[in-house]
Amino acid sequence: MTATRLLLLGPPGVGKGTQAQRLIDELSIPQISTGEMLRAAVAAGTPIGEDTKGYMKRGELVPDEVVIGVARERLGQSDVAGGFILDGFPRTVAQAEALDRILGDLGVKLERCVALTADEDELVRRLLLRAEQQGRADDNEETIRTRMRVYHEQTAPLVAYYRERGVLAEVDGVGEIDEIAARVRGATEG
Ligand code: AMP
Repeated sequence: MTATRLLLLGPPGVGKGTQAQRLIDELSIPQISTGEMLRAAVAAGTPIGEDTKGYMKRGELVPDEVVIGVARERLGQSDVAGGFILDGFPRTVAQAEALDRILGDLGVKLERCVALTADEDELVRRLLLRAEQQGRADDNEETIRTRMRVYHEQTAPLVAYYRERGVLAEVDGVGEIDEIAARVRGATEG
């Protein structure tokens, strides 16, 4: 059985977005990236965008209630009925608990949390390179350090959260993209 209600977890720069794209292509299920949705809201100048752009620019988490609202609305849309790949949500234990409630209301459960692991210095190098290539507003060295610290303090506890629930699969996120994609794909089986 292939798990289709998935969460990709891991520190900034580990390649969650890249691996999510591979899974979309292979499993034909949509990716739900709260980061992308929030960046779109900022670009469109919506009230949510106005409220959140400062946090994003600094590399801090936007308040739980805002991002939970965004995720709840997206998860209620019809294209996610057959499955989804969550990328960048949840990022706090409060968000993970909210996700459990949202999915419970929809009558489904998260089937697998794929946690990508990598050496942190390597990740900072990757993020600085991406900053040069893409010019993302939240990719300067100070923001990158903040995002790494925020990950450790607020998001890393989710590894234990999902281990306790028996849905965690840890995957080595270092190597060729194809190689990592094969490991991630393997983690969605069984
Ligand atoms: P990402 O593209 O996933 O790295 O997200 C970019 C930024 O959006 C983060 O640094 C946060 O400021 C914000 N963000 C995205 N998802 C969340 C979330 N689940 N909780 C809080 N903030 C988030």
